[in-house]
Order: sequence, then structure tokens, then C-alpha cells
Amino acid sequence: MVQVNTDYLKLKAGYLFPEISRRIKEFSSKNPNTDLIRLGIGDVTEPLPLACREAMKAAIEEMGTEDGFRGYGPEQGYKWLREIISENDYISRGCEISAEEIFVSDGSKCDSSNILDILGKENKIAVTDPVYPVYVDTNVMTGRTGEANSVGEYKGLSYIPLNSENGFEASIPKDKFDLIYLCFPNNPTGAVATKEQLVSWVKYAKENNSLILFDAAYEAFIKDESIPHSIFEIEGSRDCAIEFRSFSKNAGFTGTRCAFTVIPKSLKGKAGLETVDLWSLWNRRQSTKFNGVSYVVQRGAEAVYSKEGKTQIKKLVSFYMDNAEIIKANLTAAGFEVFGAINAPYAWIKTPKNMSSWDFFDFLLEKANVVGTPGSGFGAAGEGYFRLSAFNSRENVEKAMQRIVKLK
Ligand SMILES: *Cc1c(COP(=O)(O)O)cnc(C)c1O
Repeated sequence: MVQVNTDYLKLKAGYLFPEISRRIKEFSSKNPNTDLIRLGIGDVTEPLPLACREAMKAAIEEMGTEDGFRGYGPEQGYKWLREIISENDYISRGCEISAEEIFVSDGSKCDSSNILDILGKENKIAVTDPVYPVYVDTNVMTGRTGEANSVGEYKGLSYIPLNSENGFEASIPKDKFDLIYLCFPNNPTGAVATKEQLVSWVKYAKENNSLILFDAAYEAFIKDESIPHSIFEIEGSRDCAIEFRSFSKNAGFTGTRCAFTVIPKSLKGKAGLETVDLWSLWNRRQSTKFNGVSYVVQRGAEAVYSKEGKTQIKKLVSFYMDNAEIIKANLTAAGFEVFGAINAPYAWIKTPKNMSSWDFFDFLLEKANVVGTPGSGFGAAGEGYFRLSAFNSRENVEKAMQRIVKLK
């Protein structure tokens, strides 16, 4: 018989979303006519912007012509898309990121996982807790950790707690880590990192020769103008950071699939006594294992930066952020302690009366027929918290809030 990758067996059974589905199914089978409102999974709900749809339709027609047909595109993405990203997301914000340093892909979930391909196994790794589970699980799957303990912490990984005591800030570690995952605006806590905090992180990374993997999937939701949208707004970051960006949340591309990863050409890693640039390794990795994002989808992503596209995306983002405001205002008025939901589409709620995250999940499901996400599913430090997402229709958000408020 074939030998399996036993690292997969270390993954904690009953992963978050399957367990949520199981409990919903059980509840629904006992209460078949209940109108459940799902504010759980972090998926967008509003339709694709018109500008993107029009661009994709035109691209399909083009592909149906002799002259316009295209086969394999560049593995790194089309030059026109990389250029428009560089100009709009970086140069215009004062970050010197060139088109060549942008690698277009079909998602940040895969990029933030695949990046481990080009990094050694000896690296000491730190993640925040709570955390986007992908960072942790991919380290487990690739044999970079030991077994998990009873609260789900893996041996060999270090956890930086984010909680109300530290204002959900990722404190600079005393220890030296080679690789640090940061996600701001944060999923699940909705917290943001100030410029000063990111300056401290870049300083730490430079002093310790560390690499920061910066996930900025939610940058479009930042309202506060003093908050950086990119790690590359920080001086010195070109020598110590990789950034992940996605069209999933700002432009509703979760089902369409387009994202990008930024690797500065100046970024170095070591191989014994030699230094190697990470850009070349990632370029090699993508050329070998990836055949690019479809032409049609890249044209759709390009339209995000058109005049109409920008207007439509702004509207989309403010729609969700108005939902976030409604959630925050209602729950706060009802006496809940609510974090986030100001510069991010997630409200992070302290469970009342020290209920556990899962007890609060069951309570909301049964008493309000509202589905959220238990904080403990994002890590041990998420215990006692609960995530509600702003990705839903206005009607559902308002109805969910009325039901929760009535419980108090
Ligand atoms: C949604 C999300 C992404 C985006 O993933 P895609 O694969 O691009 O859809 C990345 N990081 C975090 C933390 C997310 O919540």
C-alpha cells in the first residue's frame, strides 16, 4: 500500500467549518422550518461589479476570434495587470513596488500556503493567536510542526496572543523568529495595525533577519486614513516582507479567483553561507507548478482599477462596512463588548458571562437562529470570543441584530 503523508494526520480533527455545518444540520433537522441567518463564513454575498463583468464578457468574445484568442499566458500574470496593480496599489501610495515584483495568482489562500515551498524547514515560525487557520495548517501539512496539544497549539510553532488586554495588537516578540505571519486588517479580530506598530515589526525583522508574511486581503476596508494599506508603506520593508493581496473581498472575486503576491527583488534568504533572492525562487516555483490565471479573469481584475470599477468597488466596500457599523452599534447598545468592525468587515465579540465560544455558538443558533463563528476555532486565545461577519444582505443583518438584541 502507498505511504501517506503522515503530517496530515497531525491536523486537529473537527476543523472549524465542518463542525459548524454539523451543528447547523443537527439543529435544522430538529427545527426544519427555522429561518437561519448565516453571519459565519467569511464569504462575500453581493454580486460582481458591473465593470468587472463587462470586461470579462468582452474578454470571452475576444477569445472567440482568431486574432484575440490566447492560450497559456505568462505564469506571473499579464504585464498590463501587473502594471496597473503596481501603479494603483503601490506607486500611488508611495511604495516602490514594480510590476515585475507582482505575481498574479488564483488566490491568497494558495499563495500564503505555497510560499512554504521556497522556505526552509529549519525556520522558527510565529503566528498570531487567533489566526487565519490556513497559515497554521499548511505548516502542519508540510512537516514544520509537531503534534497539537489539547487546545490545538502545535509543537514547534509559536503563538503571539491577540486579546482585549493587549488591544489585539501583535506585540513584538522577545525571541528571534525567522518567519512571522501577520494579517491586518485582521481576520478574525477586525483589528488593524498602526503605522508605528508596523514600523516596529519591520525594525524587528531587520534586526533579526526575519521574513514577515503580510496578508493584506482586507486593506480595502480601512477607513482610518492613518492606517497603512500595505507593509511596503514602511521604510525598510523591501528587505524583510512579502505581501499577499486578493480581489476576493474588495471586488467579490471569491468565486471568480484572482489575487497577487508581492516579492521585492531585494528580498534575500540564506542557503548555507550563500544568499539567494526569494523573487527568483518564487518565479521558478510559479513557472514550474502554476500556469497562470485565466485571461478572462485577469481582464476582470484589471477593470477593478478603471474609473467605473473604482467607483463600484468603493460602493461595495461601503455597503459591507455599513453592515459592520449596524452590527457594532446594535450589539454595543445591547451590552456586548464588540471589537473590530471599524476598519474591517468582522465584529469580534466577547462572549457574555464567560460563556465558551461554542456554548455561545449554540446559544445564538438556538435562541436567535443566527450562525456565527466560535473564536476558539481560530486558536486557543480566541476562546471566549465570537466572530460575526458583515458579509450579508442589509435585510439579513438587520433581522439578525433584532433577534440578538431581543435576547438581552
Ligand atoms: C479571504 C481571505 C483571503 C483571500 O483568500 P483568496 O484565496 O484570495 O480568496 C486571504 N487571507 C485571509 C485572512 C482571508 O480571510
